[in-house]
Amino acid sequence: MAKVIHDRDGCIGCSACAMVCPKFWEMSDDGKSTLVGHTNNQLEISEEDVACNKEAEASCPVNVIHVEE
Ligand code: SF4
Repeated sequence: MAKVIHDRDGCIGCSACAMVCPKFWEMSDDGKSTLVGHTNNQLEISEEDVACNKEAEASCPVNVIHVEE
């Protein structure tokens, strides 16, 4: 298992995460992205979903996505 953490306060709403990993990232009405299925902007994910979220992490221009393994 791995964990994804979204420092949502710092999100600038660029949509990059939602474009590279739409299974887990979507844009919300307030203009920021949301981690699908999160609790307090954190989500446990299985190994098979690490790569997608690491792409999101790498795509974020303000480094507010963190994947911990
Ligand atoms: S890539 Fe980063 S700044 Fe852009 S929408 Fe996603 S979390 Fe927000």
